[in-house]
This record gives sequence, C-alpha cells and structure tokens, in this order.
Amino acid sequence: AAERAQLRAHEPAVTTSGQTIKVEANIGSVDDAQAAAHQGADGSGVVRTENIFAKDLTAPSVEAQTEVFVRIGQTIGGPITIRTWDPSGDKPLAFMPNQPEDNPALGERGIRMMRKVPQIFRDQIKAALLAAQQVDLQLMIPMVTDPEEMAWAKQQVETVRAELGVDPVPVGMMIEVPAAALRVAEFAALVDFVSVGTNDLSQYTQAADRTNDAVRQLARQDSPAVLELIRLIRAALPGIPMAVCGDLASDLDATRTLIELGADELSVRPGMVAEIKEVVRAI
Ligand code: PEP
Ligand code: MG
Repeated sequence: AAERAQLRAHEPAVTTSGQTIKVEANIGSVDDAQAAAHQGADGSGVVRTENIFAKDLTAPSVEAQTEVFVRIGQTIGGPITIRTWDPSGDKPLAFMPNQPEDNPALGERGIRMMRKVPQIFRDQIKAALLAAQQVDLQLMIPMVTDPEEMAWAKQQVETVRAELGVDPVPVGMMIEVPAAALRVAEFAALVDFVSVGTNDLSQYTQAADRTNDAVRQLARQDSPAVLELIRLIRAALPGIPMAVCGDLASDLDATRTLIELGADELSVRPGMVAEIKEVVRAI
C-alpha cells in the first residue's frame, strides 16, 4: 500500500465525492521539507520554528530566519505556515526568558511568552513577511486562549507590515486550548484560518500531560471529547478553512473521521503524506 501511495504522491488527494483535501507536512527543519517534498506534500501546515532554532543561545537574526523560511518554502514547493515561537516545556528555546515553572504546560508558552518579548516576536514576523516576498507563506499563532491575545498578535503583524510596506499575508491561529475551542466564534473576525493542534488540545481536554508516560495514554487524541470540540470548531466557523495539524492528522485510522468532521486540510508527519493522501482518495 505504501508503494502504491508513493506512486501517486504528487497527485492531489481528492475524495470519491470530489472534495480536494490538502495534505501538508509538519516541518521542523529543512530536511523535513525535503522529505515532505518527496512525499508530495501540498505545502506545510506548521513550521515549528522553535525546532529549527532550538539550540541558538541568542535570538536568531531577521536575516537568518528569512533565509531558512525561504529555503523551506522553496524546498517543499508549496505554501508554508510559519508558526510563531512556541517555547514550552516540551520545546524549550534557550534564548527565551522562561522561568522554571511547576506546570510549564500551563505556563508562559506560545503567545503568552511573546507578550514578554515583543521585539523577538516582531523580528520573527518581519522575517516571515520578508520571506513571503519569495515564497507563498502564512502566519500562525500558537497557544491562543483569549481573543484579546489574537487581537494583540494581529496588531503586531500589522505594525511590522506597515513599516515594511509589503502586502499582508493570511494570519491564523492554532486551536489547542479548550477555552478557545468552546468560544471559537469570538475569534472568527480575527482569523483567516484555524488549525487544530490535537497534541495540546487532547492534553488540556483530558488533563493528561503529553510528556508524562504514566498518563499520556489518557490524552487520547481521538477521545470523544476532543472530537466533539473539533465538531464545535467547524460548526462555529463557516467558510473559514480548518486544518488539523496535531498527530491525529497522521493517524490513518482517523483520516475518515477528520474529513467527516469537516477538516479541509491535514498537516501530517513528513513520512506519512503519501499514505494519508491515498486514504483520502478512498473516502
Ligand atoms: C499540537 O499541539 O497539536 C501541535 C501541532 O503543536 P505542537 O505539537 O508543536 O505543540
Ligand atoms: Mg501545540
């Protein structure tokens, strides 16, 4: 089956009823982009920028970030989704001023930390907007809980965009906090797209630490509660593209469910793109 999938990897994934599902890749390096291109990815639904620069002891320059975003976009040969910094317990970033926390998953991560380091946030936005002059690119904000956070992020993007005098790019948010999922209609006017992060959404919904082997099996990404939240998100955002970029999107047994729940795009592990595309074609 995997060989058959590879033969058709570069064709779009179209369901039997004629709906095209974008199958993209989750990228944490230029090597990932290479693997994803080989698998026929329709772009990247999340570039985990904190993976790329995890070892840097100081914040990377605008130039360094622009260069790698352009390389990833050119390598994958499709639109990419630059996720702004999401320093967190499972993805530490040496140059972020994170304090030791008892509960890092519930602490200063994602957009929460960006409020503390707005210049680092704006530099990343600048790098993405400059890269967007060369490759097709959109921006995505992680760990948004409250509409006010998203409004602030958009304001930062607009400030940088106006300074550069460039065209706007689509700006979306990850939905990985149950409060945001339950109240997602309040974000509708603030987003061009949403992407469901089932890794964190399941961790927070099931109250089970994704990094703790003793309980992680409780954080089932296909739990009825998580699927119900995805259903709510879809219903509350008519006309707004909904992607799924958590690991559930890479689960061949979940593809049908996610499409039935209304996912327009699945962003998966680079090595899974061709197989997921093939499963989509049978739905
Ligand atoms: C997620 O939470 O599902 C996600 C895609 O983001 P990350 O795994 O990088 O936290
Ligand atoms: Mg996440």
